[in-house]
This record gives sequence, structure tokens and C-alpha cells, in this order.
Amino acid sequence: MSDLGRDRSAECIAPPPAIPLSLAEIVENGLCIGCGLCRSLAGPQEIEMIMTPEGRLRPVARVALNHSTLTRINAVCPGTRIAGPPPSQTATAALTDTVWGPAERVSLGYAGDPAVRFQASSGGVLTALGQFLLTSGRVNFVLHVSASRTAPMRSERQLSFDAASVLEGAGSRYGPVAPLENFSEILARGKPFALIGKPCDITAVRNLARHDPRVDKYMSYALAFVCGGASDLSKSEQVLQRLGLAEDELALFRYRGYGNPGPNRIETKDGRAFQLSYRQLWEDEDKWMIQPRCKICPDAVGQVADIVASDAWLNGGPAVDDEALNGIIVRTRRGLELFDAAVAAGVLAIKRESSFAELGELQSHQTRKRRAVWARLKGIAIAGKPIPVVTDLALEDCARQNAPAANLVEGRGARDRAKRGRLGEPRAVRRGEVVIVKDGSP
Ligand SMILES: Cc1cc2nc3c(=O)[nH]c(=O)nc-3n(C[C@H](O)[C@H](O)[C@H](O)COP(=O)(O)OP(=O)(O)OC[C@H]3O[C@@H](n4cnc5c(N)ncnc54)[C@H](O)[C@@H]3O)c2cc1C
Ligand code: SF4
Ligand code: SF4
Repeated sequence: MSDLGRDRSAECIAPPPAIPLSLAEIVENGLCIGCGLCRSLAGPQEIEMIMTPEGRLRPVARVALNHSTLTRINAVCPGTRIAGPPPSQTATAALTDTVWGPAERVSLGYAGDPAVRFQASSGGVLTALGQFLLTSGRVNFVLHVSASRTAPMRSERQLSFDAASVLEGAGSRYGPVAPLENFSEILARGKPFALIGKPCDITAVRNLARHDPRVDKYMSYALAFVCGGASDLSKSEQVLQRLGLAEDELALFRYRGYGNPGPNRIETKDGRAFQLSYRQLWEDEDKWMIQPRCKICPDAVGQVADIVASDAWLNGGPAVDDEALNGIIVRTRRGLELFDAAVAAGVLAIKRESSFAELGELQSHQTRKRRAVWARLKGIAIAGKPIPVVTDLALEDCARQNAPAANLVEGRGARDRAKRGRLGEPRAVRRGEVVIVKDGSP
């Protein structure tokens, strides 16, 4: 575990696999986050997204995928390839930090519109920017996600063509969602658009941009949030169990928002309402049910987005109703032009400048994870399991901020868990589907 490599761009954790991983190998090795991009590339006749018994959206091949399709999937899947910002961006950025990456500016701020900042997740910065992109004519539509209208505990991809629709999608959807499942159709519209999503969603489309020029042509902006991990649907089902409710009774399932962070609010079709505080929802870390891919996420801080918004609880952690506020990391020049215009138009209000040092204190779990991922991936590779090809994310430099003994413990732990199969996932089957095991019994 002490053979720290030298090539920063390639991270040198393990050589890329000689043959592309199958879809099942990506899923069963815990690399899939369920973004849906593979389904978009291969088409619904070849790949479908299913909800597994664990409460994860996973792709399943409906036919044998040929080598060329698998090669294309491996090149864009955010479970197999994770690239950081181009070195030229990092070299010329106004600010850089080993853990947090490059930025033009780091601030604390919130949406200028009080309705947006109340309804949104933290301070409404992403919603306000999404709305501004539309009203200023910079884009034709915004691709993001929202609660399903028919099954409100589920989340689905949303295309917003006006400000009201962007607001409808405000808030954090912690459960599974596949925002990229028909990304090819979105590109085929041939109109400028913005993507708001998780850092891994942005990674996926940046991967695709290296193979499909339409991405850079039409995806004008990519906005992300700092991400602690997406949870299984089972996490939300646990809440229903606790309240004695069934999913088909629900009229509303909101994780947070309507305050910062605001309550997890559940309403039933027959008019009953229930609330858990944010702390009650997340009080037991063992029951967060975070997806396996998140535990090895090399970039949960959105290094390849144009602008990233985070929580910013200045009192040390979420109370029931903190001041509406975001950390705002402006990553690119394009993001800076948008940010400056949004501030000038009163769409964003800036409380004060911040710094990566402050964000690191406010988001210490992100710092810990960035420093741990290199050793975790190394441990998994030593166990003989596939890991993503990671480039330009300074994982090794992050690991060097730990004591060597800490990296050793982290790497050995990951190696042992990987050997025991604890970092992978079961074969993806649809909920309710009977699995036939080798001896023929169900
Ligand atoms: C799974 C998850 C984990 C998170 N972990 C952290 C964390 O560790 N640290 C932290 O600072 N913040 C975290 N957040 C982000 C935080 O909850 C806020 O979303 C963020 O601060 C932006 O706030 P906002 O008020 O600008 O967002 P809003 O204005 O409410 O906008 C949020 C936007 O994100 C989109 N969105 C919501 N959920 C998803 C999803 N699952 N996939 C794709 N797009 C989505 C919505 O469609 C909306 O456009 C997490 C959010 C999620 C969904
Ligand atoms: S992460 Fe996305 S692209 Fe990769 S296998 Fe999963 S759904 Fe497909
Ligand atoms: S932690 Fe990483 S892999 Fe998991 S949802 Fe967030 S960005 Fe995606």
C-alpha cells in the first residue's frame, strides 16, 4: 500500500481493464450509480432501467450487448471513468485546492427571490440560476429532477422550459433517479440547455462530450451540488414503515426544503400530514443506505461543473430552520460570467466571500472522503476487483494529506471488504422478480 505512484493525471491506481466491463460487472462491483446514460446510448430495446429489491435503479441488458456498445458504455459511464477538470483549467484558476479543486470564486449566498430560497433545499442558488438561465435566454430548457407526480416518493427526470417548472423541481431528492436515461433525445433536440445534477451526472456527460460533439455544442451550463451520496429507495421506505404508511397512500414526499433544511414532509391522499426533522431523518448513520458507488466517489464536490452549490450551516450543523444559505463554488470562466450576471440582476445575493478552508470546515466529511478514496480504490484493486479509471483529480495528493498509517488502514479495510464481496451489489433483478439460484430453488 505504500507504492505511491507518480503520474498525477492518470492517478496510477490500476491499469484500465483490457476488455470492457459488462453491464453486470459494472453493477455487481458497486460502480453503478444508476444515472441511465448507458440506457440512453444503447437504447431502450437493449438496456432497461429497473428498480432492484435494494431500492436502486440499475441498468439491465435485454439482449447481449456487443463489444462496441460495451466499449462506448465503459468510456462514458461515471462508474468506470471519472475525469477531473482539464489541467489547463486548474493551472489558470484563480483559486486551487488539492481537496476542493479549482475555482474562480468561492462565496456564501442565496437566491434573491424569497419564495425560491424558502422552497429550495438550502438557499435556492441552483433553482435561481436555473430560472435565470431561462429568463435571460441563455438556454432553452433545464434538465434536472423532481418528485414524480404519480408516485411522490420516487424521483424522475424533469425538463423545465420556464421558471415555475424549475421551482417545482427545487429541493433535494436523496433517493434513486436516472436523469440521463434519455440524454440522446435531449441532444437530438438541438437546443441549448443546462444540466443541474449530482457531480457524477456531470462526470457522465463530460465523459460523453469527449465522444459526442453535440454535448459541448448544446449543453451550455452544468450546475451541481456538493454531494454526500444518494440513498437507496429503501431509506425512504423505512420512513414510511416508521409512520405506518404505504407508498400508494402518498400525495407528497419531500425530503427537505420549505426552510433550510426544512422538514422531511409526508402527506397522504386522505389529508394526513407527517414531519420528521432533518436530524431525525439522518440520525442513524448505519441507516443512511448510501449506494456503494458513493463510498468510493472520487469527485463528490463537482469539480467538472461550472458552478457548484453546497449547504453552509454556519452554526456547525443543521438545526430545524437555519438561515437560507449556500456555499457557492464558481469553477469555470463560463460559470463566473453567469454568476456575475445573476448577482447583477439580483437573482443571487451574496452574503460574503468564503474560501476552500471554510468550506472544508463546513463539509469536513467531504475532506475526509477525498483523502480516503485513493487508498480505498487501491485496496479494491489489490483485491482483484475492477475500479474506475480516474484522471486529473489529484486523489494521490489528497491521500498524502493523511498519515501513511491511516492510508494503510483505509486501504486494507477496503481490500478486505472487497474480498468478502461487501463493496459490491447483488445481480440486478427487478423488484418482485423470482431469482433462480443454481440448485434450481427460488
Ligand atoms: C443525494 C444528495 C446528497 C447531498 N449531499 C450533500 C452534502 O454532502 N453536502 C452538501 O453541502 N450538500 C449536499 N446536498 C445538496 C444540498 O441538499 C442542496 O441541494 C444544495 O445545497 C443546493 O441547494 P439549493 O438550495 O441551491 O438547491 P435547490 O435550489 O433546491 O436545487 C436543487 C436542484 O438539484 C436537483 N436535484 C435534487 N436532487 C437531485 C438528484 N438526486 N439528482 C440530480 N439532481 C437533483 C433539483 O432538480 C434542483 O434543480 C445533497 C443533495 C442530494 C440530492
Ligand atoms: S452508472 Fe450510469 S452509465 Fe454506468 S452502468 Fe450505471 S446507469 Fe449505466
Ligand atoms: S457521492 Fe458521488 S457517486 Fe454518489 S451520488 Fe454523489 S456524486 Fe454521485
